[in-house]
Amino acid sequence: MESPHGLQASLHLARRMASLEPSATLAMAAKASLMAASGIPVIDLSVGEPDFPTPGHICQAAEAAIRAGKTKYTPAAGIPELRKAVAADYSRRTGLTVTPAQVVVSCGAKHALHNVCVSLLDEGDEVIVPAPYWVSYAELIKLSGAIPVLLETRIEDDFKLRPEALRAALTPRTRMLLLCSPSNPTGVVYSGDELRALADCAIEANLAVVADEIYDQLVFDGRQAVSFPTLRPGLEERTVVVAGVSKTYSMTGWRIGWTISPEPLAKAMGNLQSQETSNPCSVSQHAAVAALTGPQECVAEMCRAFQSRRDLVVRKLTAIPGVRLPQIGGAFYAFFDIRQALARSAAGGGTVLGPTTSAQWCEALLEREHVALVAGSAFGTEGHVRMSFAAAEDKLTEGLARIARFLA
Ligand code: PMP
Ligand code: GLU
Repeated sequence: MESPHGLQASLHLARRMASLEPSATLAMAAKASLMAASGIPVIDLSVGEPDFPTPGHICQAAEAAIRAGKTKYTPAAGIPELRKAVAADYSRRTGLTVTPAQVVVSCGAKHALHNVCVSLLDEGDEVIVPAPYWVSYAELIKLSGAIPVLLETRIEDDFKLRPEALRAALTPRTRMLLLCSPSNPTGVVYSGDELRALADCAIEANLAVVADEIYDQLVFDGRQAVSFPTLRPGLEERTVVVAGVSKTYSMTGWRIGWTISPEPLAKAMGNLQSQETSNPCSVSQHAAVAALTGPQECVAEMCRAFQSRRDLVVRKLTAIPGVRLPQIGGAFYAFFDIRQALARSAAGGGTVLGPTTSAQWCEALLEREHVALVAGSAFGTEGHVRMSFAAAEDKLTEGLARIARFLA
């Protein structure tokens, strides 16, 4: 007998898998690359992945690690050099004192987030996540048995969560607040005051806070991203900072991310990793040490490139009638409003039915203009789409021209 998934009854999927969605960003990127492989001139602005090569000195450190035989299991929570480098880098940039024992190195920040959810959340706990949110948050929370409480924010507020909205969403089951600044998918950066107001709510309600700060060094116009635990004394006791090398050093494929948390939680997550993955890739860990302790000019250079691409994208998108977007202060995403275009195709329905949802709109854009974006619905906010501008300017210019033509 077959289950609804086409599996024999003996292999029926566990209940926790029933509602698990695949990552929409990775799915769109895979689709675009299949089209490209079949000779279609696709402009892929779907996945958030810097287009720069990993800087040479980082690759050389990995080669040296291989030659030196550093190719064996490592301690589950990461090699001491890397935990020390993460702690030193974070302490230097924030002024807080963090020890290597508070750092757990994982197979990417995505894995770090999974560790946090599994280690802190019980069945039925509620986690407040402002929407639009990065695609994996809701799924990782659900996998741990908890409930993502998705709070819509408004483009008029630059998609920032307001403290009143947070307070109104609290219930006796609320355990955690998950924040991402600079934000994927909106590129919005919270100010210190805005975050402090949210921190005060978190303290009042005794919430754990997960601060996804993976884009903290990719900020524009002289901004400084504020690290959440610096906002009030004692906040580090309830906060887990998540970050990694994927975005800052263009190292997405190396799979190194980490958490910075109070030591007892770090110990628990290290134990979890010792059972689940043993350790993150040994060679990549040595590369990450070189990234954090080596020259930092590469980061500034990539950031300058992202800022100038941001300028281009904002200029071209805001020139299209009806398109709106929030103020992009960091990361490499433009999350723009296409509700007018969707309303037009809904109203014009009958003859040629146009797309009426962001997913249909992205499908149609890919089919007709061969540009890959990701639907806002995947980030919990219908009526919008996300464009990654981690792509070369000529690709962006061509992609934007095609988007403008499609919207016209
Ligand atoms: N958090 C956010 C907000 C992201 O955009 C990403 C990118 N995939 C991640 C976490 C995970 O990054 P990685 O697993 O590549 O370290
Ligand atoms: N963070 C990137 C994105 O949002 C990478 C894809 C993923 O990990 O889902 O596109």
